Amino acid sequence: QKNHLFSEIREAVRDPAAPFLQAPSGEITSYADMLARSGAYANALTALGVVPGDRVAVQVDKSAEALMLYLGTVRAGAVFLPLNTAYTPAEVAYFVGDAEPALLVCDPARTEALTPIAGKVGCRLETLDGNGKGSLATLAGEASGDFADVPRGPDDLAAILYTSGTTGRSKGAMLSHENLASNARMLVEYWRFTDKDVLLHALPIFHTHGLFVASNVTLLAGGSMLFLPKFDLAEVLRLMPRATTMMGVPTFYARLLGSDAFTRELAEHMRLFVSGSAPLSAEVHKAFSARTGHAILERYGMTETNMNTSNPYDGDRRPGTVGLPLPGVELRIADPETGKVLADGEVGGIEVRGPNVFKGYWRMPEKTASEFRADGFFITGDMGRNDERGYVSIVGRAKDLIISGGFNVYPAEVEAVIDEIDGVAESAVIGVPHADFGEGVVAVVAAHKGAALTPEQVIAPLADKLAKFKQPKQVYLLPELPRNTMGKIQKNVLRDQYKDTFG
Ligand code: ATP
Ligand code: MG
Repeated sequence: QKNHLFSEIREAVRDPAAPFLQAPSGEITSYADMLARSGAYANALTALGVVPGDRVAVQVDKSAEALMLYLGTVRAGAVFLPLNTAYTPAEVAYFVGDAEPALLVCDPARTEALTPIAGKVGCRLETLDGNGKGSLATLAGEASGDFADVPRGPDDLAAILYTSGTTGRSKGAMLSHENLASNARMLVEYWRFTDKDVLLHALPIFHTHGLFVASNVTLLAGGSMLFLPKFDLAEVLRLMPRATTMMGVPTFYARLLGSDAFTRELAEHMRLFVSGSAPLSAEVHKAFSARTGHAILERYGMTETNMNTSNPYDGDRRPGTVGLPLPGVELRIADPETGKVLADGEVGGIEVRGPNVFKGYWRMPEKTASEFRADGFFITGDMGRNDERGYVSIVGRAKDLIISGGFNVYPAEVEAVIDEIDGVAESAVIGVPHADFGEGVVAVVAAHKGAALTPEQVIAPLADKLAKFKQPKQVYLLPELPRNTMGKIQKNVLRDQYKDTFG
C-alpha cells in the first residue's frame, strides 16, 4: 500500500531539478530538495517517537522548512495540526489539550511558555523558527533524506485543521488523505495549473487557503511558489513580474488597488488572480477589472470541505458570486429547519457533499452528527442562493442572519448596496438586540481614505433601494473594520461593541 497523498505528490514530480519554492532572497528549494528535506523531517519525527496516527501540532512562522515539516508529517503517517501564529500560549493550551499531540513544534522564543503546556499532556516539545532554525531543524539536518513513506489509505487522516473561530470556538476538522488529494487534483485542472506556473504566495500556511489550496495545487502541477513570509505590499509589487498567478484574501486585492504602483502594465502578464476565505465585494472586483483588465476568480471553501465552488476559468466570472459547484461537489440550497431543497433564487442553507468533505469534528461526535444530513450532505452554516445559471451567491452566515420584526435581513444584500455609495470603502451589517423588533439592523462603515462621510450620507441613499425593514436604524463610522488574520470581518466583535445601541 502507498501513502495515498504523498505518493500522488511524488508521482507528480517530473523534473527533480525544477524549483518548488523560491524565497524572496532568491534561494531555491527544488523538487529534489523537497523530497529529501521532507524525508529528513519524516525521519526526525520517527526518531522522536511519532507513530502513525499521532498528531504533530505546529505553531511556527511561515518558512520553507515549515512546509517540509507538513510533508514529512504526512509521509510519517502522522496527522499535521497547524496553529495560527497569533494564538497566545493560553489559546495553544486549549488546542494541545483537545488534540493531545505527540509532538508540539513552536518558535524557540516560546519554549518557556509552552513547556508546561506540553508537559501536561505528555507531549514532546521541539523548535523551529522563521529562518528554518531550531531543535527540530537540527535533528532533520542530521537525518537521512531517504524515507520509506508510511502506507496510508484514502480515508486515513492527513491533518486536523482548526476552523478560524469567526463564529465561536474553533473546531478541529479531520481531513483525510483523499479529502486533500481529490480537491487539489481537481483544482489543478479547473484552474489550469501547470509546471510553468509561479504562484505568488503571501498567505499564512496555518490555514487551508495557503496550506492546502496553494501548496497542494502547486505540488500536483509541478509548479513553483514565490514564498513570502507575509503580505507586504512593496514585496508583492516587486515580485509580481516573476509570478504567473496569485491567490489571496479580499484584503490583498483591496490593498493592491490602494497603491498607484499597481498598474495595468504590472499585472498584464499574470494568468490568474484567485480570491477566497471572505467575501470579495463586487466593488473591488469591478475596480480590479477596470485597473488591470483581469476578472478576479472568486471561489468558496471552508476548513471542513476544502473548495466547494468556483467561478469558471473560461467564461463569466460574476462579481458578487462564488461561482458554480466544482466537479465532484454536489451543492444544494435547503431550508435550514426542514432540510427541504429550495428552488433556484430562494435563500437557504448551503449544503455540500463530495470527496472534499471532511471526516467530522475531532472529538465532537454530537456536533458532527448535527451538522450532517442523513444522506451525507454537510450543513456549511453559510446561507446562499442559486441563480438560473447555477451561480451561487453567499448572503451571509446563518449565525449572522438578522431577524428584525419577524423579517429576515441578509447582511450581504444590505452591505452590497452600502458599498456602492460614494466614499464607502467597506461595510458590515449586523443585528443587535432591539426591544420592539427583536433585532435592529446596524451598519458599521469604513470610509475611503480622505473621504468625509457622515451617517446621514449612508442612510439617505438606501431609502429607495431597500425595503424599510432592511434599512439600518443606526450607522457607525470606523476608520477600519476589525478583521482576523484571514481578512474575515469579526462580526461577533462588532455585535458586542454595539449591543447597547437600542437600549
Ligand atoms: P468558524 O467556523 O470557526 O466560525 P470560519 O468559518 O471563518 O470560522 P474558515 O473555515 O476559515 O473558518 O472559513 C470558512 C468560511 O469562510 C465559510 O464558511 C464562509 O463563511 C467564508 N468564506 C470562504 N470563502 C468565501 C467567499 N468567497 N465568499 C464569502 N464567504 C467566504
Ligand atoms: Mg466555519
